[in-house]
Amino acid sequence: MRKLSTALAAGALALTLAGCGQSANGVGDGAAKGDAKGGLVGIAMPTKSSERWINDGSNMVKEFQAKGYKTDLQYGDNVVENQVSQIENMITKGAKLLVVAAIDGSSLTDVLQKAADAHIPVISYDRLIRGTKNVDYYATFDNFKVGVLQGTYIAEKLGLKDGKGPFNVELFAGSPDDNNANFFFDGAMSVLKPYLDDKKLVVQSGQTAFNQVATLRWDGGLAQSRMDNLLSKSYTSARVDAVLSPYDGISIGILSSLKGVGYGGAGKPLPIVTGQDAELASVKSVIAGEQTQTVYKDTRQLAKVAVQMGDALLTGGKPETNDTTQYDNGAKVVPAYLLQPVSVDKDNYQKVLVDGGQYTADQLK
Ligand code: BGC
Repeated sequence: MRKLSTALAAGALALTLAGCGQSANGVGDGAAKGDAKGGLVGIAMPTKSSERWINDGSNMVKEFQAKGYKTDLQYGDNVVENQVSQIENMITKGAKLLVVAAIDGSSLTDVLQKAADAHIPVISYDRLIRGTKNVDYYATFDNFKVGVLQGTYIAEKLGLKDGKGPFNVELFAGSPDDNNANFFFDGAMSVLKPYLDDKKLVVQSGQTAFNQVATLRWDGGLAQSRMDNLLSKSYTSARVDAVLSPYDGISIGILSSLKGVGYGGAGKPLPIVTGQDAELASVKSVIAGEQTQTVYKDTRQLAKVAVQMGDALLTGGKPETNDTTQYDNGAKVVPAYLLQPVSVDKDNYQKVLVDGGQYTADQLK
């Protein structure tokens, strides 16, 4: 009898706590959420086709679990409908928090309305979720700076500041449904445009507008075919000196295309090719003297930022932010925490990536 009444009392207490948690669950208001600590966190990532997202997902799982949370990590395989139904499932399973790196930043409005109706706070991870008020915080890198680092690398390597030129450059951008792609491109163009205006840099294809150079879903194969076209139409006699590439997977496609027409062979050096993410294959390519540069973003740090934001939201704290102006998603300015990207090439990969613990020297052999 005693046992039963204790069990009943415990049950009642649990119900009361659950009730409290729910009624206090104002999205993003920093209210204490009695039952949320240790609850389920839904983590929706875009794709496993790129290492960085695999690392992002597993780093967050580790960090959330270390703080006592349960996690549900899902990858959408770059298919928007998959991601929407994965998030719906997380809501149904009773997730207390959603962390989402969107495939298409503008296609989550309906599902995030469901999250808001269930009082589930949402953290936009790396990529800004657009067009909805139902996103509470944004954990990302300084995305404009990523582009500045790529553009600056090209300018410096070509000696543009010293008045050298003219040189031929071709431009690539990321996926038009990813808000980051615009930031990367705008950042790079903030450095390159004056040289284009002065004709110290020439885009022989004439393709300089974002929507002419964008690469749907960051697809390296698509970039490769576009580069094939550019080379066969605009470079039969001219030589390409630099290619602005926003992401390592795209750089790999561009490099295959270039090698296919003899660049990298005798008397025809490869152009400068930028990149992003310091993915293993691309770092090896940098060491081998093919891809010239990449931009490293420490996803271990990004996972930490997102987990701290989430934990604060679920325990009545206020997430730390350092940018409350730049990221207007069309429905609100989303308070953000921006980490710093780092330019990496042959000269500093050892210090940044090996000494920094991202890769062991053996992995890079
Ligand atoms: C990320 C980049 C990544 C790209 C392709 C962007 O949203 O910020 O780090 O290279 O997606 O996955």
